[in-house]
Amino acid sequence: MRAVVFEAWKTFPTLKDIDKPTPGPGEVLLKVAGAGACHSDVAVYKDFETATAPPQLAPSYVLGHENSGWAEELGEGVEGIALGDAFLVYGPIGCGHCVACSRGEDTYCANAATMPYLASGLGRDGGMAEYIVVPARNLVPLGDADPIKAAPLSDAGLTPYHAIKNSLPNLAGGGKFALVVGLGGLGQVAVQILTALTGATVIATDSKADAMTRARAHGAITVESGPDQAAKIREITGGRGVDAAFDFVGIAPTIALASSVMATKSRLTVVGIAGGKYEWSFFTSPYESTLTNTYWGTIEDLYEVVAMYKAGQITPDVEIFAMEDALEAYRKLEAGELSGRAVVVPHLAH
Ligand code: NAD
Ligand code: ZN
Repeated sequence: MRAVVFEAWKTFPTLKDIDKPTPGPGEVLLKVAGAGACHSDVAVYKDFETATAPPQLAPSYVLGHENSGWAEELGEGVEGIALGDAFLVYGPIGCGHCVACSRGEDTYCANAATMPYLASGLGRDGGMAEYIVVPARNLVPLGDADPIKAAPLSDAGLTPYHAIKNSLPNLAGGGKFALVVGLGGLGQVAVQILTALTGATVIATDSKADAMTRARAHGAITVESGPDQAAKIREITGGRGVDAAFDFVGIAPTIALASSVMATKSRLTVVGIAGGKYEWSFFTSPYESTLTNTYWGTIEDLYEVVAMYKAGQITPDVEIFAMEDALEAYRKLEAGELSGRAVVVPHLAH
């Protein structure tokens, strides 16, 4: 089968033929419906190396940690899954039996250090291929919802959802403000989730004009970058600042921008994994404000994201690529040329 393989650190992936996988005990073979290209993949193949990356991410394996598909074959002991049914894949794979995994929070598995991989497409073969094998426990049913447009939900939906859910206490009540920095795959869905789950005014910004146009269509007020950007954001809030912010870029300037417009008792979540640094001090931080990071989400969260998708509250903007054009999807993602989440669809004629 055709697959996008990450073969060596600091090397662009390769599109090549590999063997179709077979499901082991407790696993399911999926015929891939859609595989989203996430900016984290770019960090994995372009920025990371042995010294900086978790050892489980070492190549080689099939990329793609944002997947959906149809059940094609069941491994030994798997029951209750009908062949042909559509599923979204919960990407993280923990030990399955520690306290965190028991909560469906494989992202923070207590035994992660001894696991051979972190997730589908992150240390073990992912979904940028015609077929993928995943543990049956990681399948979230989609019912009759479109699995191709749903693929981005498993990361571009789940990650902002988890961060926003943890910030809901900050956004409860009237007259609240949320800020979204970086309106790519994750940021666009974040605007939709904030609009659906809170009554907050959503302020958004991106260095690209067309990204801001799409965010306005999803209900945000946008503020261009520039020297007076922080002042403009603060002005929209009546001078008080924002109650929750989500930085989907994560470089020092974006963390600094968000930090400069936070209200008292606010929460800033850095989601972008660009490694930006920020100097905290008692005197420059608003009282009782929280600065945190986040990693993906839980299986329970993913069920809730699917419910929002089915209710029409989240509709990821997607750009569809055939399997043979998968590398072009990554090229466009790196170049900032996408106007929707790139989703590779290996079986266009399904
Ligand atoms: P993307 O490439 O689709 O979107 C990034 C957006 O940021 C683009 O629209 C780009 O124009 C904008 N941007 C870049 N620099 C900017 C700046 N200085 N100011 C304003 N906007 C700027 O990326 P994505 O797939 O949505 O991922 C976003 C980030 O989140 C990446 O760093 C990715 O690695 C990370 N990520 C983190 C997690 C997690 O669990 N923490 C999960 C998935 C992705
Ligand atoms: Zn665990």
